[in-house]
Amino acid sequence: MNLNDILKATKAEAIPEVKDIDIAELLIDSRKIVNPARAMFIAIKGSHRDGHQFIDDAYEKGVRTFLISEETDTAKYKDAQFLKVTDTLTALHQLATAHRNQFHIPVIGITGSNGKTIVKEWLFQLLSENYKIIRSPKSYNSQIGVPLSVWRMQAHHTLGIFEAGISQPGEMSRSERILHPDIGIFTNIGEAHSEGFLNNRQKINEKLILFRHAKELIYCKDHHELNECIVQYCHQIRSGEEDDLKVFTWSQKSEATLRIQGIDKSSNSTTIRGVYEEREIAILIPFSDNASIENAIHCWCVLLLFKIEDSQIAERMARLHPVAMRLELLHGVDNCTIINDTYNSDLTSLQIALDFLEQQKQHPRRTVILSDMLQIGKPDGDLYEEVAELVSQKNIYRIICIGVALSKHKPTFRKHKKLRSIFFKSTEEFLKKMHMITFENEAILLKGARAFRFEKIEKLLEQKIHKTVLEINLSAIQNNLNVYRALLPAPVKMMAMVKAYSYGSGSYEIANLLQFAGVDYLTVAYVDEGVALRKAGISAPIMVMSPEAGAFDRMISWKLEPEIFSIYSLQQFTEIAHTLNVSHYPVHIKLDTGMHRLGFMPHELPELMAELKVNTAIKVVSIFSHLAGSDSADFDGFTAEQARNFDNMSQELMQVLPTRPLRHLVNSTGITRHPELYYDMVRLGIGMYGFDGSDKVQHQLQNIGTLKTTIAQIKELKAGETVGYSRKGKLERDSRIATVSIGYADGYFRDFGNGNAHMLVHGKPAPVVGAVCMDMCMLDITGIDNAAVGDEVIVFGNELPIGQLADWAKTIPYEVLTGISQRVNRIYVNE
Ligand SMILES: *Cc1c(COP(=O)(O)O)cnc(C)c1O
Repeated sequence: MNLNDILKATKAEAIPEVKDIDIAELLIDSRKIVNPARAMFIAIKGSHRDGHQFIDDAYEKGVRTFLISEETDTAKYKDAQFLKVTDTLTALHQLATAHRNQFHIPVIGITGSNGKTIVKEWLFQLLSENYKIIRSPKSYNSQIGVPLSVWRMQAHHTLGIFEAGISQPGEMSRSERILHPDIGIFTNIGEAHSEGFLNNRQKINEKLILFRHAKELIYCKDHHELNECIVQYCHQIRSGEEDDLKVFTWSQKSEATLRIQGIDKSSNSTTIRGVYEEREIAILIPFSDNASIENAIHCWCVLLLFKIEDSQIAERMARLHPVAMRLELLHGVDNCTIINDTYNSDLTSLQIALDFLEQQKQHPRRTVILSDMLQIGKPDGDLYEEVAELVSQKNIYRIICIGVALSKHKPTFRKHKKLRSIFFKSTEEFLKKMHMITFENEAILLKGARAFRFEKIEKLLEQKIHKTVLEINLSAIQNNLNVYRALLPAPVKMMAMVKAYSYGSGSYEIANLLQFAGVDYLTVAYVDEGVALRKAGISAPIMVMSPEAGAFDRMISWKLEPEIFSIYSLQQFTEIAHTLNVSHYPVHIKLDTGMHRLGFMPHELPELMAELKVNTAIKVVSIFSHLAGSDSADFDGFTAEQARNFDNMSQELMQVLPTRPLRHLVNSTGITRHPELYYDMVRLGIGMYGFDGSDKVQHQLQNIGTLKTTIAQIKELKAGETVGYSRKGKLERDSRIATVSIGYADGYFRDFGNGNAHMLVHGKPAPVVGAVCMDMCMLDITGIDNAAVGDEVIVFGNELPIGQLADWAKTIPYEVLTGISQRVNRIYVNE
């Protein structure tokens, strides 16, 4: 769209008068800028951050066109043009709507609680031979994701497939105006994201608004509430309108457009038989879980509606492949980090993967291994021009290109002088010559289309891992962070606790994410933890809570900020600062208001103030204290007393300080239970890792960790025999016993032994038999017949929460998480 069209669509005021240029990209995040010359930065005010704060950053990166709603000193930005509206999010919606209205192609809109992204991606796999498809990238289905997806629609596309979600009433009608789908799919309805809705029916009815102008609606009649709402919707709202909504139903139980007559599962595939227009038809899909079966039937309905031949449907369904919803971060050989994204390959997913690669600050270099891409509707020349541009903007050290098409475009890459590029015709050729290329201390992105079988490369680059792994879901941590951020008024800063190896979840891997997410402070317990983060390239301010006096000089050289909790620590630190000729070094003063752990007691204040008055070695950047019982109403009286102490003590202290420090008091449960005590900053810990001790936001938090091990051996034992040390595990029946590779040295407590806990084998509970050993323990898998040596065993995860293990061991989740020992490998996934 050119700027004049944009002005028309949004009724914006132009400051100064605008030049009429074409805008190709809409940006909302100044960290993710590509093609700045043809981009417009939209300053959106979120619940916590205001895009207007990032205009400087976007300008510095070359953006010259801005859509704003706040008073901005526009004169400050030379050569820039500003479009001013009253609400930038509304303007984004108007732009997307105007853009969408230029195209007259069929659009499929997908909503529902689960399966939206899979159905969308599978339809893309199934229909790409017939259509040039534009679809939402990943799961862009929010009030920002929907307009940005639609913006990518272009003249050569012949079918659109978009998903739309809602988090509160009122949103769907805006998404409907933008998407205007002709064909709807309502996948199902669950309890997810229920906040803001009275009940399921209200939520269904809100979602149905997406189909206000649709001609066909596909859904499963067997969801009872969903069916009733849709029948009612067709009767009351859509009947009598000139374009009635037709329903295309499927059901396993009753008459339907597609009547499902049989679902036969084998271990890794399923045959689904049905009757459609009086003929018997069948498909086979290479999956056997219920969610995949439901998703596949929804897709089947679309293919039938599009009149694809039965034989073609069957052939394509059999080839369906899993949708990689996530990037994996693995430890590689020779101190490399591998980002594994080897399932699909197009420009959008490349961009997402490159952003993630850029966050990996722990290595000096970044390498991309890329295969030919399957971008439909773009000539190769333009495509690889864009790829080369994108990669060179992202500070990539070298790119290894694999494939015939990429090899043809060598000069396109060689134009970028700083980028080293190496070319291979095929994965096989690369594997043969791989030993000649050094990979060392670098982050490597593996990004290949399926046909290129990059998993072969991954196997060679990945470090062999101990059989027990802790999988950490970075997207869940991000989600949890957002949940707490949404509670904070904009000026309140966020300090994120990454002490104790981020509560057991990882070091720089977590800090990278938090730094990228823009948290204001990171906090560790000990100096070594802070140094490790600095060595990994973390540049955010870091507070150290229990600094050893002997390491003060190290702290200063690594720019780590100490917590000062006693006159002694203040004197020691001051002395070192003098020796090193350092002045005004940032420190944090800890007050003891009742926790009685570390910190200055009230009677020590006069001495502290006298010292601070004359001390120029340090600068007090924050004053804080810690609550002993923020999680429980039983202690609210005590919390109030602590807060009063904090007020008094900090006020007094501030009188002798030349600059106003930040004040902070609350931890996770303080954030949810004591909004009146936020002061200037909050300190988020366990909540980010998935536990709300106050039960206020637990339903919005996601589990961040899955601990997995494997079966090392299986034995058939007779009743009366015993298992393990001290003959503790007496068998009362003939049993199948599996030995698994995890013990108390991995952090699996001895308290879990003797039937006190279970693990999940093929989704079924398998109790721990006998005592837990150092490196192993034994499970009773009697009745889980398909269990075999090498199979995965879930110790905790989504289906078996860490909180349950904490209950079994009569402890708190903090101890279970932080107890997983360092020898257990962590792998990181980003969904
Ligand atoms: C650990 C810690 C926190 C975070 O506590 P959570 O209960 O995990 O939120 C906050 N402040 C201090 C001083 C801490 O030691």
